Amino acid sequence: MTNAKLITQENRLFANNILIVDDTPDNLRLLSKTLIKEGYLVRCAINGSMALLTIKTKIPDLILLDINMPDIDGFEICQQLKKSDLTKDIPIIFVSALDNIFDKVKAFEVGAVDYISKPFQVPEVLSRVSNQLNLQNLRRQLVQKNQLLQIEIYSRIAAETEIRQLNFDLERRVIERTAQLQTEIDQKQKIQKQLEYLAWNNSLTGLPNRLWLVRKLKKLLADLNQKLGKEFITVILDCNRFKIINDSLGRQVGDQLLTMVTQSLKSEISAQKVQHIHLAHFGEDKFAILLEETSETNKAIALVQKIKQCLASAFIVENREIFLTFNIGIVVCDANYSQPEEIFRDADLAIQKAKKSSSHYYQVFDCTIQNTALEILEIETDLRIALQRQEFYLNYQPIICLNTGKISGFETLVRWHHPQKGSISPDKFISIAEQTNLILPLGIWILQEACRQISFWQNQLFSQQESFTVSVNISAKQFEQEDFITQLDQIIDRTGIELKHLKLEITESLLMNNAAVADRVFNQLKARQIKLAIDDFGTGYSSLNYLNRFPVDTLKIDRSFISRLTEDNQAATIVKAMLDLAHNLGFDVVAEGVETIKQSQQLREWGCEFAQGYFYAKPLNQDLAWQFLADNLQG
Ligand code: C2E
Ligand code: CA
Ligand code: CA
Repeated sequence: MTNAKLITQENRLFANNILIVDDTPDNLRLLSKTLIKEGYLVRCAINGSMALLTIKTKIPDLILLDINMPDIDGFEICQQLKKSDLTKDIPIIFVSALDNIFDKVKAFEVGAVDYISKPFQVPEVLSRVSNQLNLQNLRRQLVQKNQLLQIEIYSRIAAETEIRQLNFDLERRVIERTAQLQTEIDQKQKIQKQLEYLAWNNSLTGLPNRLWLVRKLKKLLADLNQKLGKEFITVILDCNRFKIINDSLGRQVGDQLLTMVTQSLKSEISAQKVQHIHLAHFGEDKFAILLEETSETNKAIALVQKIKQCLASAFIVENREIFLTFNIGIVVCDANYSQPEEIFRDADLAIQKAKKSSSHYYQVFDCTIQNTALEILEIETDLRIALQRQEFYLNYQPIICLNTGKISGFETLVRWHHPQKGSISPDKFISIAEQTNLILPLGIWILQEACRQISFWQNQLFSQQESFTVSVNISAKQFEQEDFITQLDQIIDRTGIELKHLKLEITESLLMNNAAVADRVFNQLKARQIKLAIDDFGTGYSSLNYLNRFPVDTLKIDRSFISRLTEDNQAATIVKAMLDLAHNLGFDVVAEGVETIKQSQQLREWGCEFAQGYFYAKPLNQDLAWQFLADNLQG
């Protein structure tokens, strides 16, 4: 650093600032000259006090300090400077003529960084100054770096704190959101469960519904067909007359009734303590019971009998006693079944058979029922053709007055002469004709044919037979027709019969099921003096008192009571009671199906007016009937 430096304005700003303190002016001059030449900014002080003052105005970067001075010596100045934070870091180099080792040691003790002995060599001074300034600069840089580092550390700590806070916030938000989502999920699951419940259960009774049953049966059948499961039993309970209750007493009553039936079924089934048993609400008035893992019909029948007992007593709804009856189909489900619908179809066939039977409210499905079903289908097809081909004709069964033994009338009974199958019984085809509405054209034909016959006979024979009647069976389907009376009027007009000779037979169940229609039509019939008989009495549900409201002339006691009359005390009691009540209400009575003289005598004794049955005559064709009539009236 021997080259002189030019102090420009700019350099001045960055040049190191050195204070020289010496009471010897020559020293001051020499030193300042040398240092200024080197490019330093130099200030001078000639004693201690001045030095301290100068330092206060501006802190120098380095001090060259003499020790021996008149006012305050160098050590003292140094010590003072070391005490202040502002000045303690200024590097101080002592420049002194004192040359013993103690002074030097003391100089370092009070805080000097270097020591130059006088007389000094200029290059040594420059070198030492430059060294110390470099050191000082390095120290400053170090301090600065330290500060920067410190700032960085602080900002890192701050950043970390912030991150920690953010993390904490995030975690809290995650927890909150998770909880919120969980609630949403819970709600959705709840709704899902409710929807599922509604889909698989009947909303009124809470029982599993048809959809559930179909799914369950599908599963059971699939298992069965893959030899993973066993045969099982499906029982379907069909409530009779439920629609009538619903229509006449109102839906609310119907609903209450279904709820009560459900309760009874549930408690009866749980009382059975049978495992793998399920109850379902299969249709409006139908229930199903699944007996898994058994194919023993005995078990199903035992259950059905228990159920019948528990449903037999009256249900009390809105202070009203309501009795319900059921028909029940039992199907043993084996590997022959592949679809639930096949089970339902067969259960339905069994129910239909039970409905027709007078002795069995339940029926176990078997192949013969299926054959019957096929036969039904065949009959339906043939019936349509038969109507066109006029394969029907009428038979006439005499009705005898028990007192006189004389004929009092005929009941017309339709016959079907099938070209291949021969004579088909009305028991086989009337109900099919009713189901398919073919009874409507057939019924018109029967009425017309019967009236044609009356008109023929009335001209020949009835002139003295005022009360002679020809009875015609009328099915409920015909009766419900809006224009039934109009059609009847047309036939009467056409055939010109005297109306007093015509009697219509309708069944007791028709009255029960269509009381309103019956009221209307009966009054119109009465206005025409057409007579009315209640057919098959005792097989329905009506009481005699109930019949009182209808303008009925005759009661026909069903064959099933008459056939047991002489052997069965109970049947005898019933028939006697029926007779008494019918007479009290002003009806006359025809006993149906009289086959023996004993029956005939008994009935006559009890005051029964009329009888009909094989004992007197079977249903006869037109010619034989004519013959019977002529013989009987003459004889
Ligand atoms: P229903 O009206 O009760 O007719 C009486 C049935 O009992 C007749 O059977 C008759 O032949 C039968 N019968 C008469 N006396 C005796 C007897 O002493 N013993 C026995 N075992 N049976 C006797 P059918 O002719 O087979 O008719 C059966 C049912 O078909 C009738 O029962 C009736 O419900 C219906 N039906 C018959 N003809 C007609 C018709 O023209 N129109 C309608 N709608 N139904 C008819
Ligand atoms: Ca009849
Ligand atoms: Ca009858």
